[in-house]
Amino acid sequence: MTVVPTPVLSVRDAAVRYAGGVSALAGVSLEIHSGELLAIVGPSGSGKSTLLNIMGTLDRPTSGTVVIGGQDVTTLPDRQLSALRGRWLGFVFQQFHLSEGLTATENVTTGLLYAGVPRRQRSPLALTALERVGLAHRAGHLPHQLSGGERQRVAIARALVHEPTLVLADEPTGALDTANGRAVLELLTQLNAEGTTIALITHDRDIAAQLPRRVEIQDGRIVRDTAITAAADTPLGKGTAAAASGTGGAP
Ligand code: ADP
Repeated sequence: MTVVPTPVLSVRDAAVRYAGGVSALAGVSLEIHSGELLAIVGPSGSGKSTLLNIMGTLDRPTSGTVVIGGQDVTTLPDRQLSALRGRWLGFVFQQFHLSEGLTATENVTTGLLYAGVPRRQRSPLALTALERVGLAHRAGHLPHQLSGGERQRVAIARALVHEPTLVLADEPTGALDTANGRAVLELLTQLNAEGTTIALITHDRDIAAQLPRRVEIQDGRIVRDTAITAAADTPLGKGTAAAASGTGGAP
């Protein structure tokens, strides 16, 4: 018997409407499984940030559900949501969002604040995370003493330090030059090979093309998901892709 694993995160028929009648997402369904590395790709204004915000439990959909680790988070109170984020999710932002007065190690330890890790264990864990991103030799540096690429690696270490089930990376190479952008993408690919599940949001089709799965979004709808296309191409998947995709199947 085949056991279908529970997705790490699933978005089911989610819609987001902003005041003034703007429909930012319209019936989006998406499943992310453990071990995946996927790009959510679309032009500016297509709904990527809105989708990221509901996946990261920073916002709630107007309708539909978001399920993380088997739990419907749409109706959870805010306090439980922060605890859930602290345990399950890691965030990487385009502009790094490091604290200027803190060293690389101290910045990384802030990723443990909501994970219930005792104070004494935080620095050693932060150092291990900095080693994973190749920055142990910069542990005592302040953000302004680091290059853009190094700053983003510190931010990635902070996102990883509590071993989240899913890392959400919002345009992580967007503020970097080509060489540093490529290095960050290689790092994310390497971390994924080591077992980290990563969803990367980008407007850049060239970056998306380098990732194993691409979910394309346009006008608040998923217009293509290569995981579903691939499933539809296998004998078992034939005929089930439309059901699996919800409204997200390719037109
Ligand atoms: P992307 O991240 O792909 O650039 P967004 O998710 O930011 O797209 O935006 C999707 C749509 O929702 C756009 O039309 C945008 O103008 C609109 N939008 C985003 N945030 C708000 C808001 N707070 N209020 C009203 N409209 C918004």
